[in-house]
Amino acid sequence: MSGKNNNRYKTFRVEVKGLVQGVGFRPFIYRLASGLGLSGSVENRNDGVSVLVNCDERQVEQFVRCIRESAPPASNIESVAFEEVPLLEMQGFQIVKSRSVSDTVTDVSPDIAVCDDCLGDMKTQSNRIDYPFVNCTNCGPRFTIIKDLPYDREKTTMRDFRMCSSCRGEYDDITDRRFHAQPVACADCGPRYHLHLSDGSEISDQRRILETAIRLMENRGIVAIKGLGGYFLACDAFSREAVARLRKLKAREGKPLAVMFSGISTLSRYAHAGEQEKKSLLSLKRPIVLLGEKAPFPYQVNAGFDTIGAMLPYMPFHYLMFENSRLEAIVMTSGNISDEPIITTNSKAVETFGKICDAVLTYNREIYNRTDDSVVRVINGKERVFRRSRGYAPVPVNVSSNVEGLLATGGELSNCFCIGKGSQAILSQHIGDLKNIETWEYYTETIEKYKKLFRFKPSHVVTDMHPDYLSTRYSDNFDLPVFRVQHHHAHIASSMACHGLDETVTGVAMDGTGYGDDGNIWGSEFLVCDLEDYRRVSHFEYMPMPGGDRVAGEPWRMGVSLLYKTFGKDFTSIDIPFIRNLDKEKADILCRAMDEGITPLSAGAGRLFDGVSALTGLCVESSFHAEAPMRLESALKKGVSKSYKYITGESISFTPAIEGIVKDLTSGVPVSVISARFHNTVIDAVVNTVSLISRSRGIKKVVLSGGTFQNAYLTENIEKRLKGEGFRIFPHLDVPANDGGIALGQLIVGAEKRRRGKQ
Ligand code: ZN
Ligand code: ZN
Ligand code: FE
Repeated sequence: MSGKNNNRYKTFRVEVKGLVQGVGFRPFIYRLASGLGLSGSVENRNDGVSVLVNCDERQVEQFVRCIRESAPPASNIESVAFEEVPLLEMQGFQIVKSRSVSDTVTDVSPDIAVCDDCLGDMKTQSNRIDYPFVNCTNCGPRFTIIKDLPYDREKTTMRDFRMCSSCRGEYDDITDRRFHAQPVACADCGPRYHLHLSDGSEISDQRRILETAIRLMENRGIVAIKGLGGYFLACDAFSREAVARLRKLKAREGKPLAVMFSGISTLSRYAHAGEQEKKSLLSLKRPIVLLGEKAPFPYQVNAGFDTIGAMLPYMPFHYLMFENSRLEAIVMTSGNISDEPIITTNSKAVETFGKICDAVLTYNREIYNRTDDSVVRVINGKERVFRRSRGYAPVPVNVSSNVEGLLATGGELSNCFCIGKGSQAILSQHIGDLKNIETWEYYTETIEKYKKLFRFKPSHVVTDMHPDYLSTRYSDNFDLPVFRVQHHHAHIASSMACHGLDETVTGVAMDGTGYGDDGNIWGSEFLVCDLEDYRRVSHFEYMPMPGGDRVAGEPWRMGVSLLYKTFGKDFTSIDIPFIRNLDKEKADILCRAMDEGITPLSAGAGRLFDGVSALTGLCVESSFHAEAPMRLESALKKGVSKSYKYITGESISFTPAIEGIVKDLTSGVPVSVISARFHNTVIDAVVNTVSLISRSRGIKKVVLSGGTFQNAYLTENIEKRLKGEGFRIFPHLDVPANDGGIALGQLIVGAEKRRRGKQ
């Protein structure tokens, strides 16, 4: 850029990185450049979009600013950089045809909620009036229909549909919103719905399908509806009878069900939504957002919790449903039985739901990649992803290490796996509990799909240290070097990877369970660690876990464990409802097992919460994962400042807190207050321990991870207080704090071990 140049303009190369393919980015650049009167070209590269323009420096700066400011809504720009290159003569502005994609592949766009323009087209375009598969470059299905790259109609499940001349015209017209929109479709050429009624009859007329589905739901019916990534079971959220029936047929008793509201104003009548919550609800990802309940919902919907899992319509059919009915909110829950993966094929849906639901609504476009609804919660003004699937996956996490060839197999519960491509970590969509055989098949199939889609050849496998995790055993399928990563180290590393941290930090990993170095179960870990290694500096005191894994479904066992440890044999004479309702014989067996020292030991924070939840009578038996801690949080009264005592020694003992809780219970202190005091105690313990550990070592950065941090009260207060003490906090945001995030941590630790030649 030095010296005199006789030309009025120069040539610049502008590189845009991030999620910029399959979202209408090249036509956007074309229109932008043409509008500014610039000549040049744009082309898709493996790692983004590359633009050449002829202009002067002032213009290129303006061009880059415009790219940032008016990028297509579904894109996500990570960086825009420009540099001068040797002068090129260029006429007009061209879109250069994509070169074949090599092994370095670019981001695959997640599915995107229908956009306002397309909703408008459903009212005005003659071939799309009420057409529920309308989409454009800014919206519509993506990941769920993609079989291979480059992203091209032929490589999606839209391949079966021949574009009509009108759609083809839009597809080929660079000035059109549907230019190169691969799933482009209209009523004349695109997918169609089909309704199977429980009496065996079928309806194919689109108008009658809509009317029938609505009529059924308005009259306490249940309809299985095909969504973007799988089937959902839907019914009127205000019909106790329908919701109760739906619960029964799903074989899901106590778990809250998600609700889709007709719009934000209806939603606001029933739930509290702050600014960020509204933003999340309305985002193109359209996740389920956990909100505080305003007007109480029927118990059948949210199972008595003080929150409601709320979402807004994201498919054109959802909009049609609300527009044409008096329904305000419908329960919309994954179409599966118990813990199986959500059903994706029409045949299985009809087979499974045909008789037990009132109707099954299918359509004839195949779902290739399964996705569930994603779940988020806003804590301290920031969106935290609890379940990462539709709308979020498979967006990669850009990491600072070379992770090429690494396959991280993840945990066993809430599994996601993670593959490494260059410096991108691609975390799979939520898979689920691998112990379920159908989920296991989903897991292995999805790994194969990722290998193909992302041109991924594993060279190293990274697993948990737990020898019995199915995801650990999966590594036996490969004749490749295996790195084993401690569960809680993986938790902390996962968050470090998201925040680009590569240094020594204090990590707090709290969850229900994870295999520890000493053969015990860990889960309240204060680590001083970097990406390669860790030191366990403190943890909650070990608790006997009578019955082993059975405690997960029977929190009362932890209640007995805590009382026995605190009060010895006399605990049975304590006059609280928990003891009065306790089966003394069973309790006696537990105590003897603990005496003999044959019960496993756990330091899991989740187990402590289980025990307290049982003692307070909130959850003695649990019907789903983490129900007891969730009930304890849900019962909590805000604004209570008192806490119980705890003892810091080699480990952190909550024995004094258990004494305090029992004392409060016997003197009639409300459970809501006891819950708050208990939470405050854990907050005190975490904050003080972090301070102690970090100050003596000069560490300023604190990483929080593990499923326990999905507890909003705990996380909110721990973050605030640690910030108040001058620490910088790095919590999980886009990647789950629960075991859904550990594959990313495994990957990054594996990369570091590989780099240092350790195995
Ligand atoms: Zn659109
Ligand atoms: Zn058409
Ligand atoms: Fe965990």
